[in-house]
Amino acid sequence: ADEARIALDNIADRAGNLLHPTLRLGVAGLSRAGKTVFITALVHNLLHGGRLPLFSAAASGRIARTYLEEQPDDAVPRFAYESHIRTVLDERLWPQSTRAISELRLTIEYESASLFSRMLSRGRLSLDIVDYPGEWLLDLPLLDKDYATFSAEAIERARLPSRAAMAGPFLAALDAATLDAPSDETTAVQLSQSFAAYLRACRNDRTALSTLPPGRLLMPGDLEGSPALTFAPLPVDPGRSYPRGSLAAVFARRYDAYRNVVVKPFFRDHFARLDRQILLVDALQAINAGPEAVKDLETALTDILACFRPGASSWLGSLLTRRIDRILVAATKADHLHRESHRRLEAIVRRLVDDAMARARFKGANIDVIAMAAIRATREGTVNDPAGPLPVIIGTPMEGEEIGRDRFDGLRETAVFPGDLPADPGRLFDAKRPREPIRFVRFRPPRLERNAEGLTLSLPHIRLDRALEFLVGDRLA
Ligand code: GDP
Repeated sequence: ADEARIALDNIADRAGNLLHPTLRLGVAGLSRAGKTVFITALVHNLLHGGRLPLFSAAASGRIARTYLEEQPDDAVPRFAYESHIRTVLDERLWPQSTRAISELRLTIEYESASLFSRMLSRGRLSLDIVDYPGEWLLDLPLLDKDYATFSAEAIERARLPSRAAMAGPFLAALDAATLDAPSDETTAVQLSQSFAAYLRACRNDRTALSTLPPGRLLMPGDLEGSPALTFAPLPVDPGRSYPRGSLAAVFARRYDAYRNVVVKPFFRDHFARLDRQILLVDALQAINAGPEAVKDLETALTDILACFRPGASSWLGSLLTRRIDRILVAATKADHLHRESHRRLEAIVRRLVDDAMARARFKGANIDVIAMAAIRATREGTVNDPAGPLPVIIGTPMEGEEIGRDRFDGLRETAVFPGDLPADPGRLFDAKRPREPIRFVRFRPPRLERNAEGLTLSLPHIRLDRALEFLVGDRLA
């Protein structure tokens, strides 16, 4: 049934494509990586003639018109672009982050770069942007794991020293549970909630862990409270069959439901239809949290990238007929660093996805890494320090942000010395290395500048144009 469904979707998409060329661009990243900000900035820059010198179609003046259109999928929430951009421009605040899947269609009318195609007609490309939580991709490996295997791995992970503080209450609840006692809903909900609370606690700023499946327990979307999301791993004995209606039997059934009614439909209906993908990564947060968080981010990224090139014998591999041919891994929020550190940030993320990249390339995907800020909230400056000139970034910290004893009111600009990233990415994995954290202050979105003619300029960014060139440039050639 899954195969038939995907085949039909593909035929429909291809037929539609003949009349109306489209490109389905997936935007993924773990929670707070910057998906909402990225899509908002991308759309704003394309609609309002942003400064995009590295995006060749725009730079050479070949983009004739851009506009938002009705999206193709009626059952998918629309990406709330209008409300997000208002928050950024009018309130100078950050928009509400991604909680579930959403979609937006942006159509670009362009002149082809080649004289021959130009004579035929003006080109038109619809960019269907699909925004979804990266956490959901971490569920793919669950499709090949039964309940006992999932449980054993999840419990082993919960017992890691780095997770001890967060997992304590859940592990205690687990000790108190009787697996073959008849399941009552109060216990089931309590166990499931304490498991979800532990997963969420692992995502806090200090620990910043990333590998935390099942993804919907972190990002439930519209399924919160459903039986398929009300389970937890239990120390079940793989060889044993538990009595009907027992806690272990009920959770095993719900775990299967989770895989069948939650995980599979997402991959079948959405993931299998993507043409290109950008994966956003907030490496700075993990770097600040220390080596455990960096290693965990590496694991999560490797697992996520593996989704784009699944083995042919796996459930997804056997279904994927359309192959994502370009993947961009983008380290976000580069405006938190001085330009001198951008290359280092890029090198760090490259190192995190090294193995996964080699594998994807081997299987024919074009994959690249950049450091980017979809919205640049800072500018650069130099402060004279007794030790010499110090490169700083200047921006308006959000109300309530603190550095040392300074607490900001959200009104005044401040210069911050962000600190340096190590030149050797390997140092970030070294637990014995003394850490010099990056000074990570949340800045407000920038005030829009006006040019000499008094026109408001579009949102500033760092290398958003390079991202666009990689992801869609060839389709506008
Ligand atoms: P999502 O969960 O992936 O949708 O994440 P968001 O796009 O909502 O971003 C989470 C937060 O990261 C935002 O509220 C901002 O504080 C910050 N952020 C994201 N992108 C940028 C950026 O380009 N520059 C700066 N300075 N901050 C950003």
